[in-house]
Order: sequence, then C-alpha cells, then structure tokens
Amino acid sequence: MTTAVREAPHHRNLTCVKEYRCRRPDCVARSQAYERRRYRQKGYGTWQPLVDATPARQHIAALREAGHSIPDIQRQARVGSATLARILYDGVNKRAERIRPEVAERILAVPVGPAPIKPNTIIDATGTRRRLQALVSMGWTLNALGPRLSFHPRRLTDLMYADRVLASTARRIAEGYRIAQTLDPVAHGVPKRSASLSRNLAAREGWHGPLAWDDIDDPAAKPEALGRKRRPGTGVSKIRADVQRVAQLTAAGKSAQQIADELGCHKRTVVRARGRVTPEVLEAAA
Ligand SMILES: [Zn+2]
Repeated sequence: MTTAVREAPHHRNLTCVKEYRCRRPDCVARSQAYERRRYRQKGYGTWQPLVDATPARQHIAALREAGHSIPDIQRQARVGSATLARILYDGVNKRAERIRPEVAERILAVPVGPAPIKPNTIIDATGTRRRLQALVSMGWTLNALGPRLSFHPRRLTDLMYADRVLASTARRIAEGYRIAQTLDPVAHGVPKRSASLSRNLAAREGWHGPLAWDDIDDPAAKPEALGRKRRPGTGVSKIRADVQRVAQLTAAGKSAQQIADELGCHKRTVVRARGRVTPEVLEAAA
C-alpha cells in the first residue's frame, strides 16, 4: 500500500482503489459512488458497515448439504454469482471476509429444507436399491417385476447395484414397490421354484425385506432385525387388527402417509402392517 506501482488483481470492487490506488475512471467512479452512498446513509442514520461473511458462508454450506445448487441459492437469495463466488472460494480470487449486511441477511433467510427435486436430478440410489432388494427377498423375480415396475429386467439388475439414479427412476421404482410389497409373488405369477431362488439369493447377498426398514430412503438407517420386532405388549395385536384395513386402503391407491392419517397411527405402523399382508388378507380386502 506504500506505492502506486503494484498492479491491482482485479477491478471489480473497492479493493483496487483503496489498496492499490487504482485511477481507472470506472474504478474511481465506483469508489466515489460508494462514498456518496455511505455519506448519504450516514446522514439518514441508515449506514451499516460490512459484516462478517462467515455465518453466510456456513449457511450456504448447509444449503448445499441439503441438496441446493449454487444457482438455486443465488436465485432464492437474490445474490449475484460473483458475490456468491467471492463469499465461497478463497482460491483464485480474494475471498470476501466481510459482506454487505443486506446480502448476509438475504442468504441467511433462505430456508434449509430439502431442495426441490426435478425429474432429471441425479440422486442417491440407496432407496431404489433397497426397494428392489427387498422385493427379491420376498420372492419376486426381476422378470416378474419388469412389467410391474415398467423397466426391462436387465435395467432392474443394474439398479439393484446402482449408486446414483435419476429422481424420475427412483420415483417409478418407489411407486411400483408400494404395491408389489403388499403382494405375494407366488400368488401373482412367480413360479414357486423361482421365488425360492430369489429368496435364497437375497439371503446370500444379505438383502433385507420391506419390514426391516423404518425409512428405506435414509442411507443412515439400519435394517431392523426381525427377531426384535415382535416384543410382547407393544401394541402389536392392535396393529395386526389393522392389516386388513391397510390392505384395502393400499389397494385403493393411498400412500402410507394418507393411510396413517386416516387410521390415526404412525406411517411406520402402516409400512409394517403392509409387510404382514398375506394373499388371504388381500382376497378378503378385495
Ligand atoms: Zn481499478
């Protein structure tokens, strides 16, 4: 800052004029505009100095963790891409340690919720994998599932081991699974021998049935051991009594959440009850 000879790294903000004594007309004008704004706002008593960028930076990290893209954050916070880049990166450009308070406020106001998922978004395949594996462990074959889920059986094989899938694919599998998990494969066209081959394959691979999952989409969820499920005195008989009702509502195309709302129980209870639906129950429900 002692000589005017040092070349400013860029001419985008006040840095070049303040620290490098830049005299480019554009930069001088920008600097004077800033000073005028500051002077005016001080006069009105509305002047606020720059604030620490750290909370905004952390909030952006949390948003990205929740699945929000940078363009999505930009749009929601009404912040330019250059501003966001300066808050985030300390690589090529100088990182902004202090930012305008209104920018910080707009960024912090973006709610950290799940990002809206578009059909062509690539998402984690955990739920898709587990659903297919769960159906196979029930005795479903991929040949029988293909037409039900509207996928070629070979594609289903790939999906059973996939790491990432299109959101639209995940949704189609989840929709097919919702029904297939309530049906007995042998009663729906799978030869007995094939069903037992499927179950054996699943046992060898360590795959779990629909019953094992409280939240099948949660990568952190652990499969529940079946032995732990039937503790005495935990309201199992009450849940059992609802199985037929759950089967009826499922057949009517209701989601687990809708059924839970209707029966006044937890969604998890519905999912578990669905796992107990037998062909006999289904016939009675029809
Ligand atoms: Zn300049």
